[in-house]
Amino acid sequence: MATERMYLATHAQDGIAAVLSVVDIEPGLSIVRLNRTLFHPESSEQLSDRGKVGSHAVLDVKWDAQDIDHYLSSSRDLVHGKTVGITVDKYWRTLQSTYHSSGHLLQSIVPRVRKDCVAVFGRHWPESARLVFYAAGPLSRDDVAEINQAFLKETSRDYPVEIVFSNGVRQVQLADYDPIVCHGTHVQRTSDIASMEISYMNFDGECLIMDYVVKPRLVQAAKIRGS
Ligand SMILES: [Zn+2]
Repeated sequence: MATERMYLATHAQDGIAAVLSVVDIEPGLSIVRLNRTLFHPESSEQLSDRGKVGSHAVLDVKWDAQDIDHYLSSSRDLVHGKTVGITVDKYWRTLQSTYHSSGHLLQSIVPRVRKDCVAVFGRHWPESARLVFYAAGPLSRDDVAEINQAFLKETSRDYPVEIVFSNGVRQVQLADYDPIVCHGTHVQRTSDIASMEISYMNFDGECLIMDYVVKPRLVQAAKIRGS
């Protein structure tokens, strides 16, 4: 039975699920499948969530065909049919969602500034977030300034990042930009993105590579409180 992927339709980070199977790989590593999950598995677009299943740390989350494998630090007390609490690490999730929403926003803004740019790749992993566009040439300083300004304008406008289902296909909708087919997690409003910086750019004659760094408002606030 395919794991129900609750994270596609909800921002909830706490819930309950039933254990379907438990496989102990080695001491300190077990694979647990649940009937439903709030944990986003690792994909080419987004890193896996962290958190807890019951009292056990979630070390990794991966796809296996239609199912999602939760790699746990232990399977103690987990048996088939047992109901367990599932908790996603809030700050880690916020970071991943901020990168994912920012990546799609940037991917939408760039072709409006430079009509020759067509997005062909997006990886929204913190520390290696990258967009690739087919492009006729490198960006000028004015292009970059315009992109930065447009990004800031969108986050200042503070509108909802909407998840819409069209003919069963999940899409993320950012204001009046074209919807983007997506299975990742997102911030709830554009103002949740505190800042964005294009950290690296290169044009290789055909493609424009653009790396970016973002800061979530929530994590930034938590750090300020904790410092
Ligand atoms: Zn996406």
